[in-house]
Amino acid sequence: MHIDVLTLFPELFPGPLGTSVVGRAAERKLATVGTVDVREFAADRRGTVDEKPYGGGPGMLMMVEPLTLALESIRRPDSVVVMTTPRGERFDQKLARELAQLPHLILVAGHYEGVDERFLASEVDREVSIGDYVLSNGNLAAMVIADAVIRLLPGVLGDDASSCEESHSNDLLEYPQYTRPEEFRSQRVPEVLLSGDHGRIERWRRSEAERLTRERRPDLWEKYLQRQTKEV
Ligand code: SAM
Repeated sequence: MHIDVLTLFPELFPGPLGTSVVGRAAERKLATVGTVDVREFAADRRGTVDEKPYGGGPGMLMMVEPLTLALESIRRPDSVVVMTTPRGERFDQKLARELAQLPHLILVAGHYEGVDERFLASEVDREVSIGDYVLSNGNLAAMVIADAVIRLLPGVLGDDASSCEESHSNDLLEYPQYTRPEEFRSQRVPEVLLSGDHGRIERWRRSEAERLTRERRPDLWEKYLQRQTKEV
């Protein structure tokens, strides 16, 4: 998979995407991340990419032309273009799995008060938000999306099973986990995990995952119950 990010700050990349699991994926060419500097496609020598909104209002908007030219410089017939924006559909693990199927993902990092609507209308396939809050620009959002997508690609995680069991993979949050030592400041690892009884361990993990989901995320718990009813 190749991911390109359209940005005004290419120097921010790869940043966190250059380390750990995702960085190793790039080294092994399982996923590569590139950037396109939108400013290079400005019409004037000063590199102007923003203008005041028609009709007035606060702040500046990214202009349609530099964005479109930047996109055209890398777009392929199989590219999918995702605009990062707080008004988009909410990014979640399901959408990450969907995007992980693509050969070429283009993420657009907005800036200022956003972008000219004509760019969204004619060039963008999906508008995606990483949460109900407003960031100062879309670079962190693009990194969040790229990270969540890349770690799902086949071969990226050492143990492929680890992405099947974790939070959000089945509408449940992950169960509590422990590692050495068995006791730390009088807190002991639950006895069941030391029992060697794999059936008991699995049942305990499932019931803990259910408890945490019920307590912390009633919305997910509802989805989980509905899925269980359908499967029966
Ligand atoms: N005026 C815009 C609005 O109210 O929807 C917010 C613009 S924000 C200051 C600038 C850029 O940051 C956006 O164009 C977008 O690319 C990015 N951004 C901010 N919050 C985001 C979020 N929750 N999810 C994804 N991108 C976000």
